[in-house]
Amino acid sequence: MRFHPWVFSGAIASIVGNPAEGDVVEVYSAGNQFLGTGHYQIGTITVRILSFTPVVIDVTFWAERFRQALDLRLSLGLERRLPHPFLAETYQTRETCENDVYRLVHGEGDGLPGLIVDIYAHTAVIQAHSAGMHHARQDMATALLSVLGSQIHRIYYKSEGTLPYKAGLNEENEYLWGGECKELLPLATENGLRFHIDWLKGQKTGFYIDQRDNRSLLQQYAKGRTVLNMFCYTGGFSVYALQGGAAVVHSVDSSAKAIALTNENVLQNFKEDARHQAFTYDAFTFLENMGEQYDLIILDPPAFAKHQNVLRNALLGYRKLNALAIKKIKKGGILFTFSCSQIVSKNDFRLTVFSAAAQSGRTVRILHQLTQPADHPVNIYHPEGEYLKGLVLNIN
Ligand code: SAH
Repeated sequence: MRFHPWVFSGAIASIVGNPAEGDVVEVYSAGNQFLGTGHYQIGTITVRILSFTPVVIDVTFWAERFRQALDLRLSLGLERRLPHPFLAETYQTRETCENDVYRLVHGEGDGLPGLIVDIYAHTAVIQAHSAGMHHARQDMATALLSVLGSQIHRIYYKSEGTLPYKAGLNEENEYLWGGECKELLPLATENGLRFHIDWLKGQKTGFYIDQRDNRSLLQQYAKGRTVLNMFCYTGGFSVYALQGGAAVVHSVDSSAKAIALTNENVLQNFKEDARHQAFTYDAFTFLENMGEQYDLIILDPPAFAKHQNVLRNALLGYRKLNALAIKKIKKGGILFTFSCSQIVSKNDFRLTVFSAAAQSGRTVRILHQLTQPADHPVNIYHPEGEYLKGLVLNIN
């Protein structure tokens, strides 16, 4: 048996009863053998499986799944808070020890299709991508509190933009538990670095947690370099570059809000730091007009392709970006280049960067092949879950 968590409409011979979008249903084989329990959907994917063994989907079910998810994150060492006597002894300084930002639930990767839960210090943000998850939101909030305990002060439900439009749920974002943060600037800590997380107005649930390991790797390359962080958003890569001893860091994003957030995050960690400057600019314009002073460039664009039919244009976009960066980066430079489009395969991306490199005629070597971190696990039966691709190139 394959444990792919989606049952497509073409595989269904008949539907008993009259389930509504989001109902919990059971799936049986032609021989009447139980196959799984999941959420019913109208569309190409008819059922998203929650369990391959018979189970009641209630608070106990959610709590059990959240506990399993948390156990993995604990074993990955992602939940490290101070003050804690054990941690204080284990880690040498406050600066390197703390981490309270992580993804607790990553959809199919955690056996919960259509659900994301991110933890930012004392705040949990739930994002539902299906009507079934939407209907279960209060039970999930109760279960989260029972698993995470007093360290969670509020649960924010942010699904306005992610629920299927046609399901007509008219959902508004809201606090399921606790309320608005009293602090003016809610901060969370990733690898000892402080970030202001704006779950209310920020992109996704507020932060790109999926780049954590890649930011750490960048920190190792940053010493003495002149860094361009293109598509900086919250300035995550910029803060790590400064921490790693970069000589200069320029952050660029077309959104003025992102630039304000980046400046704020640099300030949180380094006070006034003359090494850093941020620019509100379109990426293509900036890359076309910039000089050749950078020897470490990060290209982390938004998903250029969300659907198969725009894939070609997306690949052209990635090629153009990478060609400009490869052409202009200093000799011996390092390029961190990413694609987070799920429909751009690892191979598509690699070929696109290859073709950008070939245009430049420079010597280009791959130093690292990057992906998403372990708190964004990929269910082996659901390879579509592997979405983040990155290459670290050395360019001569
Ligand atoms: N690297 C970031 C995440 C990038 S998200 C991190 O680690 O957190 C993509 C960002 O690209 C968004 O902030 C968006 O505002 C910005 N963006 C989108 N189109 C752009 C363009 N044409 N030029 C510059 N920035 C753009």
